[in-house]
Amino acid sequence: MRIGIDIGGTKIEGIAIDQNGQILFRERISTPAGNYRATVSSVASLVDRIERDTGKSGSVGIGIPGALSPDTGLVKNANSTCLIGKPLASDLCDALHRTVRIANDADCFALSEATDGAGKGYPSVFGVILGTGVGGGLVIAGALVTGPNAIAGEWGHNTLTAGNDGTAHPPHPCYCGRTGCIETYLSGPSLTRQFFAETGSNAGPKEIAASAEQGDPQSNVVLEKYEHHLARALSMVINIVDPSAIVLGGGLSNLGRLYDNVPKLLSSHVFSNTVHTALLPPVHGDSSGVRGAAWLWPSPE
Ligand SMILES: [Zn+2]
Repeated sequence: MRIGIDIGGTKIEGIAIDQNGQILFRERISTPAGNYRATVSSVASLVDRIERDTGKSGSVGIGIPGALSPDTGLVKNANSTCLIGKPLASDLCDALHRTVRIANDADCFALSEATDGAGKGYPSVFGVILGTGVGGGLVIAGALVTGPNAIAGEWGHNTLTAGNDGTAHPPHPCYCGRTGCIETYLSGPSLTRQFFAETGSNAGPKEIAASAEQGDPQSNVVLEKYEHHLARALSMVINIVDPSAIVLGGGLSNLGRLYDNVPKLLSSHVFSNTVHTALLPPVHGDSSGVRGAAWLWPSPE
């Protein structure tokens, strides 16, 4: 049995899956926000409940918003700020009396979709999160790509190149300290901000998509720009990695038109006369983070 835990800013989710990926147990609890010690003990008691309920013991994989620094082993880049600088891996190993594997939540998403989701059967999969933030993970031949900086797939903080398609607009500052990051064009809040700049009215991605569907021209213009930005940003990944499939996740992956419109735009940005990369919606959706955490252990038996 594999146990996966996804530590989010507001919820901690735990699942147990069997060797076929069938869910044996699932529970969501509130994250003790801002309290690191309580977060560690919440995870420990969740794992304990899973093992008592199923009557089995399992390997434990954890997805976090951030990564473990290869230099110090401490958490970095986390937006759940109480985790930053903490020895989460060793504290969870102590609390659970076993070795745990910890990975970035976007990496867990990519691994889940590559293992038994939309990217199953593709030799290489780039998993993309388009949500409150923009992140990604890369899976090649079924294995997560990790590197010396623990940032593989973090394309959200690359600068989006200026387009020659009339969709460039002044670069926006990013929370990371840079300007014009891909995240400042493609995250949910960024789409909302661009819609406001264009129309003066406040609407979230869902409302913008709904009004575009009803024929509202302004919503359509904003979404077309978004699609151009996405195509340009993905083309950078395709030119370097040439993945077989790209799977979208996060709230904006629900925009069905992206899967029709963005592939048509890729050919003008990718350095190739044909683009065979599949752009796919996720199979496991919101559950991919926690499922991928469970899949961090390849062979628990
Ligand atoms: Zn940034």
